[in-house]
Amino acid sequence: MSEATIADPSAAAGPPAEWSGGLYRVAATQFERVADLLRLEPAARAQLRVPRRGLTVNFPVVMDDGIVREFTGYRVQHTLTLGPTKGGLRFSPTVSYGECAALAMWMTWKCALLGLPFGGAKGGVRCDPAQLSAAELERITRRYTAEIAPAIGPDRDIPAPDMGTGEREMGWLYDTYSQGVGFSVPAVVTGKPPLLGGLKARKAATGRGVVHVFEAALKRLGDEVGDQRVVVQGFGNVGRVVAVELRRLGATIVGVGDASAAFVDPDGLDVDELERWHDQHGELAGYPGGRRESGAALLREDCDVLVPAAVESQLTAENASAISCRLVVEGANGPTTPAAEAILAERGIQVVPDILANAGGVTASYFEWVQDHQRYSWDDEQLRARLRGMLQGATDEVWDAAERHGVDLRTAALSTAIERVGTAGLQRGVYP
Ligand code: NAD
Repeated sequence: MSEATIADPSAAAGPPAEWSGGLYRVAATQFERVADLLRLEPAARAQLRVPRRGLTVNFPVVMDDGIVREFTGYRVQHTLTLGPTKGGLRFSPTVSYGECAALAMWMTWKCALLGLPFGGAKGGVRCDPAQLSAAELERITRRYTAEIAPAIGPDRDIPAPDMGTGEREMGWLYDTYSQGVGFSVPAVVTGKPPLLGGLKARKAATGRGVVHVFEAALKRLGDEVGDQRVVVQGFGNVGRVVAVELRRLGATIVGVGDASAAFVDPDGLDVDELERWHDQHGELAGYPGGRRESGAALLREDCDVLVPAAVESQLTAENASAISCRLVVEGANGPTTPAAEAILAERGIQVVPDILANAGGVTASYFEWVQDHQRYSWDDEQLRARLRGMLQGATDEVWDAAERHGVDLRTAALSTAIERVGTAGLQRGVYP
């Protein structure tokens, strides 16, 4: 193995302005801290500190009123060391190169932690899906797919849903890619509708995974899920499933919120009613039960476990000293800033990190990709049991590492993952 050094690490691939968003700084700071701790070899550090590839695409789309609007999209691939890259596709007004780069890096660690044969990727289109018709979203998805087609493929890079996208968009992506090559390639994307080769269980898999990790964490703490009073922020793909499944396991859901409203009830909210309301209205605003609170107050609500499952940077230096729980389980990606994490640690509040807690989505996506390749389907019970086993095993592995090295859970999870990918990179060597 060569003892490669970088002449001036700070000059290597210095971030252009688009990268300097807060989320990329969080991901990069986490990586540098753990790389220092692991004394990661310079060659491994050079392979992992910045994304391997990033594609920016600008494309026109004809809107319903006949006017042509230009959109910007990205696809960032962090590392190809352990296999093709894998990661979600976001439609949101905040999407930027830096945001995709940060999320791609976290995908790498998430896949490595779960032992999946993927590197991390992330993509997105800067747009507000709430302001677009289904026909406009279809044209955006198809044109974006055509633009990034050279960079993706079943053995290159496999997109999946993320914020603002779902089964419908994955169906369009699958079709557009397949039209381009002239035959059906189901393994190019995961999170597809079940009839197109998707898993029925995929949509709920991230939320279920959060619950499996939640259960395993409580077991390590010697507690029962049924005794927990829980606040869940976010009532989308992830948060809603977390609230429903935890309630089913006997936990009391004392607060929930989404972008439209937040509700608390120290005696427990009626989650079935919340679901019904959400099905009818598409948001929580107007729900007649519980006490209406601001989103900020929801995060300060007294509980045992807080599950931020909405968007990034929700627990910050400004509100961390007012958080009133003993465990945070990160359903969302990057909901806790490093400054907040330091304050929570000082206060004895443990944080189960995103790369472990929400890894159920990519794990189920891996099952879907394997099935697409094999042209063979497993039954639902097998899928659920494998998901549960893998997430509970990873939680125990992270917990053991944290206890062995006397570090927090995020450091333990990142160290396990970074060491794995770093070692694999050194075993492959530095090309040429
Ligand atoms: P979603 O779009 O389905 O739901 C997001 C929810 O958060 C909605 O209820 C929305 O109203 C709410 N929200 C948005 N902004 C908010 C704010 N400022 N305050 C309170 N609530 C707000 O998205 P999702 O798929 O549930 O993803 C949520 C998080 O989980 C994201 O960070 C995403 O990257 C992460 N994640 C999702 C998956 C997946 O499979 N869906 C997998 C891994 C990680």
